[in-house]
Amino acid sequence: MNDTVPAYKRILLKISGEAVAPPGGRGIAMDSVVRIAEQVRDSVALGVQMAIVLGGGNILRGAQFSSQASHIHEATAHYMGMLATVMNALAFQDALESLGCSTRVMTAIRMDGVAEPYIRRRAQRHLEKGRVIILAAGTGSPFVTTDTAAAQRALELNADVLLKATRVEGVYSSDPEKDPEALFYSHISYDELLSRHLKIMDQGAVAKCLEYNLPIRVFNYRSEGNIVAAVRGLDIGTLISN
Ligand code: UDP
Repeated sequence: MNDTVPAYKRILLKISGEAVAPPGGRGIAMDSVVRIAEQVRDSVALGVQMAIVLGGGNILRGAQFSSQASHIHEATAHYMGMLATVMNALAFQDALESLGCSTRVMTAIRMDGVAEPYIRRRAQRHLEKGRVIILAAGTGSPFVTTDTAAAQRALELNADVLLKATRVEGVYSSDPEKDPEALFYSHISYDELLSRHLKIMDQGAVAKCLEYNLPIRVFNYRSEGNIVAAVRGLDIGTLISN
């Protein structure tokens, strides 16, 4: 495989919100943001078109408020989670631009003073011009996560692959942070992942990728150089496909 050639033309990169938090903490730490942004800059330099969906779990997840006693409707909390992704997106945009990348933030919920609304054809145009697009506010609808947004946007933008950068190495038979006996898969089919209820990402998101045969690669953002390696098509983490 050539070191300087990306394996794909267009990529949807999903990055967990935790990737921009201080190590082991919550909120946003600019050195964490810049570390990820440097890898995105290096990936884009290979000539790939890149759309990014950032999570918001470093700030808030709506499901935290699912209990009846929380005095907040869970739907409201999900909207708060979507707003959290916008904060991450703005931090990430500035980090990328400070590194010389041309970017646009596009939001699924209109926020005219802050960023562009997400319009599919406009997003495509940005990608064709070599801009990194950061897609914030998830799908714009509550009760799902940014994994669903990532699958949805990957399909509508004709991405060749969904790369999911997360805090574990890939897909395991059980939670590797709780079970030392957890088995690692370097490849797993969509069907097996779904039938075993392996919780690496939303089942709905996986089902959408299965329906349209969109490959997913799950890998650890904490290992230096992993985003670039995934963009080059190297066999890191877990490949989910048929
Ligand atoms: N969210 C939502 N709809 C979406 C995307 C996100 O309601 O389309 C909310 C949901 O509450 C979610 C939160 O935003 O938990 C933050 O996103 P996510 O949990 O996916 O972040 P990550 O775990 O990737 O950091």
